[in-house]
Amino acid sequence: MLFGIYPFGHCDLFDICYLEFNLLHELGAPLWGEIKTWFSGPEYLLWEVILIIKELVVGPLMSNCFIFGCNKTKEAVVIDPGGDTDKILLSLADSNLKVKYIINTHGHFDHVSGNGKMKDATAADILIHPLDADMLGMLSSNAAIFGISVENSPPCDRTIEEGDKISFGEISLEVIHTPGHTPGGISLFTNGIVFVGDTLFAGSIGRTDFPGGDFDTLVASVQNKLFKMDDDVRVLSGHGPETTIDREKRFNPFVGQSS
Ligand SMILES: [Zn+2]
Ligand SMILES: [Zn+2]
Repeated sequence: MLFGIYPFGHCDLFDICYLEFNLLHELGAPLWGEIKTWFSGPEYLLWEVILIIKELVVGPLMSNCFIFGCNKTKEAVVIDPGGDTDKILLSLADSNLKVKYIINTHGHFDHVSGNGKMKDATAADILIHPLDADMLGMLSSNAAIFGISVENSPPCDRTIEEGDKISFGEISLEVIHTPGHTPGGISLFTNGIVFVGDTLFAGSIGRTDFPGGDFDTLVASVQNKLFKMDDDVRVLSGHGPETTIDREKRFNPFVGQSS
């Protein structure tokens, strides 16, 4: 457990606060985290880090792989290990985390091509939506379009669908089916945070010109599901920087108010 004094801000007693990573990191916190406030005053907070989120850029298409862990129990999931598995394993070891599940937001090679090595190293179960499950056996042909060679993934251990809950440590992730980029694309939601894969990016959306992609379906997924979330929900995408629901609602040229 990690505690510290946060000397710059204020929030109400026993409120849940989200604090800036760089300020916390200077105080020794892991990369990002959800902060549970134990006691606060006008000039300080006493906090406890209960979530660990680590973002690693992996593979030839610079995909975002997320390590999402419970700091209390040290159980974690790895979302989209799209390559560079040694780097992911090192980062897990750095934070003393044990992987319970490998979750794929969709079946494209740049999000799943590290599944095999991750599973060999951790014995964690691979989870994916049933409509993308067959893609795990077609990675090499998918990657060949980009002139990249990769090994196929092992088959998934379990399929996950809309409304399913994935529990590890004290964290529960809800599965939201967000098709359009691929038929079995999913987003993963927990309090204040959503991992969206290639469905939505900061200022953009995922491509819909690959097999199984459909532009209208993708727009409906974003507008009817993701945009129904609270404005301040953090959006962690499969490529590029973090954004928020509010920012994309207002400024995204494909699915936002001005589209
Ligand atoms: Zn993709
Ligand atoms: Zn991608």
